[in-house]
Amino acid sequence: MGGTFDPIHHGHLVAASEVASKFGLDEVVFVPTGEPWQKSSRRVSLAEHRYLMTVIATASNPRFTVSRVDIERPGPTYTIDTLRDLRAERPEADLYFITGADAMAQIVGWKDVDELWSLAHFVGVTRPGHELPDLGRAEVSLLEVPAMAISSTDCRARVASHEPVWYLVPDGVVQYIAKYGLYLDDANAKAARA
Ligand code: ATP
Ligand code: MG
Repeated sequence: MGGTFDPIHHGHLVAASEVASKFGLDEVVFVPTGEPWQKSSRRVSLAEHRYLMTVIATASNPRFTVSRVDIERPGPTYTIDTLRDLRAERPEADLYFITGADAMAQIVGWKDVDELWSLAHFVGVTRPGHELPDLGRAEVSLLEVPAMAISSTDCRARVASHEPVWYLVPDGVVQYIAKYGLYLDDANAKAARA
């Protein structure tokens, strides 16, 4: 499951857990992006902060792991490169790529989309406020998951406005955000919430 994870929240974790359960997956690898190409207009937290929050959030689940492939590859992150790297590390594995409804809608615009289908099976999960498109492809499954109306954007805006993020993100992530003072100076977020 790729994502910016700025910060990781319970919407990500529920989606991953549901897909793992429904598809009988042995492992869910969370892959924080390097430089996210769709988000170049906003400041994204340091990759190391996003990586560590993802580690903290997933540490208690024996099937959840975190990969550094995207943060260690220079330049913008493309899902095709993520999948190629994961495949090289796990040549025997059947790869599934987990995406929410909003990312699923953009998938056809991703780099080297034709090769994407050969590298992994895609699982699109429902997300409140987003239509889950049916791409009509055998390589794509759609799964309804418990609705979690949580986004990282909203979590950042809450922190910037000194509103709570308890129970939206795991406890350790709340504490990590406070420890490093993340998102406090997110002027855009504050303005949007004012
Ligand atoms: P941002 O608001 O910064 O875009 P986000 O909450 O959308 O953050 P991302 O890191 O962009 O989180 O998302 C990573 C993946 O998780 C995407 O495929 C996204 O669709 C999916 N996802 C995020 N939040 C949810 C949610 N609440 N329910 C289902 N899927 C989600
Ligand atoms: Mg997003």
